Amino acid sequence: MIWGFFFMQRHESPRTPFHMFYNRFPTAPANIIFDNWCNTHKYMFAREPSFFKYTRGYIDKLHFCNHCGCQIAYDMRQFTNLNGVNSQVCEQCNSLLKRVVMQIRYMRADSAMEYVRAFIENLNEPRLLELEKEMANEQAFSESLVELGNELDAPSGS
Ligand SMILES: [Zn+2]
Repeated sequence: MIWGFFFMQRHESPRTPFHMFYNRFPTAPANIIFDNWCNTHKYMFAREPSFFKYTRGYIDKLHFCNHCGCQIAYDMRQFTNLNGVNSQVCEQCNSLLKRVVMQIRYMRADSAMEYVRAFIENLNEPRLLELEKEMANEQAFSESLVELGNELDAPSGS
């Protein structure tokens, strides 16, 4: 699921995730997995330590081997609670977004934004439908519990 996007004016740096989290999230995420977390960690905590004080960060499995002399504590493989986490989701999204690169190259900025927004909406649709189904099932389950509770509370013989 893609929650948002923006066009970068400069090349990617620690500044990029810092601005994204600081400007778009009401509170900092509890966990961040990023290929350049070691530098991003320093950047974020030098600027807004109170905003990120409960954030833990990790470097994904693919990129950690490129971090010679880096803190072992940034290696997500050290944490068994992260075993099932797909650390390649960013790479997978980037690969999907490459499908629109050629088209938006010839568009005005506002058209490109709209095109990418629609593309992402399309990508998210199957997951949104799944979430709607899950929510409907949970709603039906809670309603059946309320109904059962009402039947149990009703005086017998009526
Ligand atoms: Zn590093």
